[in-house]
Amino acid sequence: MRIFDPHIHMSARTTNDYAAMYLAGVRAVVEPSFWLGQPRTNVGSFVDYFDGLIGWERFRAAQYGIRHHCTIGLNPKEANDPRCREVLDVLPRYLSKDGVVAVGELGYDSMTAAEDEVFIAQLALARDFELPAMVHTPHRDKAAGTLRTLDVIRDAGIAPEMVVVDHLNETTVAAVADSGCWMGFSIYPDTKMDEARMVAILREHGTERMLVNSAADWGNSDPLKTRKTGQAMLDAGFTEHEVDVVLWQNPVAFYCQSGRLHLDPVPGFDDGATDVSGATFEGNSVLRGARA
Ligand SMILES: [Zn+2]
Repeated sequence: MRIFDPHIHMSARTTNDYAAMYLAGVRAVVEPSFWLGQPRTNVGSFVDYFDGLIGWERFRAAQYGIRHHCTIGLNPKEANDPRCREVLDVLPRYLSKDGVVAVGELGYDSMTAAEDEVFIAQLALARDFELPAMVHTPHRDKAAGTLRTLDVIRDAGIAPEMVVVDHLNETTVAAVADSGCWMGFSIYPDTKMDEARMVAILREHGTERMLVNSAADWGNSDPLKTRKTGQAMLDAGFTEHEVDVVLWQNPVAFYCQSGRLHLDPVPGFDDGATDVSGATFEGNSVLRGARA
């Protein structure tokens, strides 16, 4: 089973996770920039984080045979903090960089006026840079938040096929299907979606424009949920081809629209070998200074 996890926060995970993901079939990921759990207090904190996503994290993933890409944006939660607003000014610099495959995560957290402004400004950036937009739906008041999200996307004049609306469930999937946007589902151990509910949604709505992700981060989450969903699909009678469409072909088709996907096997991993010795990024290896 080959897997592309289109939404996973690897900088919050360990190298054990990378190794387990590789063994499970994960060969490519997209890491959306997001909230760290602890509020940032200035634009420099974002700049270092963005640099880490396109530099160190891409290097670290490659040590385990996985191609790493990211999305760059001001997340909905911190859109409310005036100290973070300057981030909008540095985004253009990052949106032209290799490996940046979308603007995101965007959207609503508490649906404030500040969130509106920042969401609209970043959809305009996605349009200007001809990049996809990765839009998250709020955890609270999800149904109303999703409808409002779709209105804003329509008014922004961005093509619906350039947008994925993520963290969907049974109550929000139909409206997003009708909008022409791509549909993202985060499979969590205890909240949002699980594998069985995901299989039921795929039965009802088909596999077209469907993306499944683990959204694994620093909270209770599981980076192997993509693989487990693929297995649940097979157990429920879906074909291997249908699993490949959902777990590989769809995310590739969506993020290919950036023109910046790298999907060739990492050298040394074409045969499944895992060798992390020796390689360095700006003089640092994943061995933390120990000699290879
Ligand atoms: Zn996320």
